[in-house]
Amino acid sequence: MSTPATITRSNEPDLPAVYSSVESEVRSYCRGWPTTMASARGSWVTDASGRRYLDFFAGAGALNYGHNNPILKQPLIDYLANDGIVHSLDMATEAKTHLLETFERLILRPRGLDYKVQFPGPTGANSVEAALKLARKVTGRESIISFTNAFHGMTLGALSVTGNSMKRAGAGIPLVHATPMPYDNYFGGVTEDFHWFERVLDDSGSGLNRPAAVIVETVQGEGGLNVARMEWLRGLAELCQRREILLIIDDVQMGCGRTGPFFSFEEAGIVPDIVTLSKSISGYGLPMALTLFRRDLDVWAPGEHNGTFRGHNPAFVTAAKALETYWETETFVEDTLAKGRQIRDRLDQIAAKHEGVSARGRGMAQGLKFEDAALASAACYAAFERGVLMETSGPSDEVIKLLPPLTTSEEDLDAGIDILAEAVAATVE
Ligand code: PMP
Repeated sequence: MSTPATITRSNEPDLPAVYSSVESEVRSYCRGWPTTMASARGSWVTDASGRRYLDFFAGAGALNYGHNNPILKQPLIDYLANDGIVHSLDMATEAKTHLLETFERLILRPRGLDYKVQFPGPTGANSVEAALKLARKVTGRESIISFTNAFHGMTLGALSVTGNSMKRAGAGIPLVHATPMPYDNYFGGVTEDFHWFERVLDDSGSGLNRPAAVIVETVQGEGGLNVARMEWLRGLAELCQRREILLIIDDVQMGCGRTGPFFSFEEAGIVPDIVTLSKSISGYGLPMALTLFRRDLDVWAPGEHNGTFRGHNPAFVTAAKALETYWETETFVEDTLAKGRQIRDRLDQIAAKHEGVSARGRGMAQGLKFEDAALASAACYAAFERGVLMETSGPSDEVIKLLPPLTTSEEDLDAGIDILAEAVAATVE
């Protein structure tokens, strides 16, 4: 995770003493938003004192359909009330059958994606680990290409392909078998990035081992909302294909409709070899992840990758219902794209008023970048004080990231951005 609003601000007197006396110093979001959250519905969170916040954070992208969405809540309640199987590792259950059939019918088949589906464990990092392991097993190669400012999770394999130096240092051991390459626009459009990648692949003196895979986000959510151009993604996919390197798209944060289409890579017209999904795949904020891969890559032996929490059936129930509710037609995609444009127009207006501030993003992952990084955290905190939850991202926390639930109304989007505009004005002046 990225650092929330103002991690350095010590507002903990506002929280019950047990947080500072019992919980580890590693806690972070409760420092940025020092209040006790009590309930939530849709795009609104209410704290224990009854104060309401507009949630433009959405569980770091895990709540694309909002908090306690009633359409998803009812089948969940019914399932629990009927003593449906809750925990099942990878046994067959009715909930899982229904999810697999629904995912194939509504997501894979209409997109012509002949993927097998793996349940790697409940988190995004679990999905990334499974993807990296599979790529290495299939190719017999060790090294993975990652990108500057990438974020893929906190476990060792995922950290090895993550850019952030503070998070990497937490590993406490060398993070090996991964080589970072410049993400799109890393050199401000001056150098054609692929020249370098292709050149070192060709050069027997470059020191680069032939990689098993490339892992990439189409939009780097934690890395500062860096948006790769479609032609860059296509160029990368073609390069991987030419060189027989597997392409892993990490869609943990940008998948499940965040950029409009279900998968964030659809617009580029590319077909990754492996895809990671988590966060909003359960639809309800329940832990769940999937790793998808080309049928011919399914070289796993039974049980070779396992985990106790791969069969969290309440998540399967809400996941299937979310797919049936939002992904039968194109309406949801169109709505998301329209709301994304609405957010972007408003952010462009804010940016135009303040020097050193610019808007960036894709779909409903939009943000404001501040040349003076400290202002981003300060404005984020000022927005919290005014009732909007947002976090910062980027290597210096220089970007305010807006990830509202995709179901947020146009009115609430406007209301939240009005508050953001006020917070920015109050901070910058
Ligand atoms: N990949 C990406 C692109 C992410 O944004 C994240 C989480 N922010 C992860 C992987 C890791 O997911 P998790 O925190 O569930 O392990």
